[in-house]
Amino acid sequence: MIKFGPSGNSDIFYKQGYKSPLDMPAWLRNMGLDAYEYSCARGVRIKADTAEQLGAAAKENGICVSVHAPYYINLASEDSEVVKKSFKYITDTSSAAELMGASRVVIHPGSLGKLTRDKALANIRSNLYKVLEIINKNGINVSLCPETLGKKNQMGTLEEILELCLLDSSLIPTIDFAHLHALGSGALKNRSNYERVFERIFTVLGEERGRLIHMHYSRVEYTEKGGEKKHWSYEDTDYGPEFEPLAECLIKYKIHGTIICESRGTMAEDAIKIKKIYEGLAKEHLYPLEKLC
Ligand SMILES: [Zn+2]
Repeated sequence: MIKFGPSGNSDIFYKQGYKSPLDMPAWLRNMGLDAYEYSCARGVRIKADTAEQLGAAAKENGICVSVHAPYYINLASEDSEVVKKSFKYITDTSSAAELMGASRVVIHPGSLGKLTRDKALANIRSNLYKVLEIINKNGINVSLCPETLGKKNQMGTLEEILELCLLDSSLIPTIDFAHLHALGSGALKNRSNYERVFERIFTVLGEERGRLIHMHYSRVEYTEKGGEKKHWSYEDTDYGPEFEPLAECLIKYKIHGTIICESRGTMAEDAIKIKKIYEGLAKEHLYPLEKLC
């Protein structure tokens, strides 16, 4: 079964008077969701006891937690200080994730700077290997999930992410469909566009591993020159990609992973909308959901 949830906290969560992330798991369960991506995107600031309490609340409410590591990570850099800090961001996020009972840590691999893509990828590969060694040595039990990114100056095309995931069987690709759409200047228009993505994942990682991917979805605005510009909400239908053809692929390829909605401000409400689309399609047109488990 696929789990659905938001990235971070919806505006409405605060408007209803909630402040603490500890209230989030019960709030999400009430909405009918079962996943939550806690964001450390602007730094790992959560205290150990809060992380543990969040983990306990998530467990109690059946919410599967993942954690997004800071945006500042750059494993492509040739500056040893930048790489050292990037290692710390990843290990700090991984430790916090473990306290939350989260097994997946989403990371942005890095940016291109003045390097060629080949050189940047080689740097990321070697640094990712080193950080995996540190995590293993410290006995931290999480899977790092390198993410496909939407800006042209970032590392993280589908091919780059899949190649990185070949480094170690613990790595799980985060497939951000908004980013693939933006980077490809509107590449995900129909079901066959999405099918090509899933076929490629299966070819490189195999079906079993490919079915457990981590996913991000939202509508996105992009520019031809730079790629991703802004995430929008599900109601903003001027922007793609559409969710229905993705839902058809999730069913067709029997995907079991987690899908996190990254809409701007309405991530939880939109996660419910896309969950209902998926469940509706699964029930009416294709396979019964039980067969997917
Ligand atoms: Zn991300």
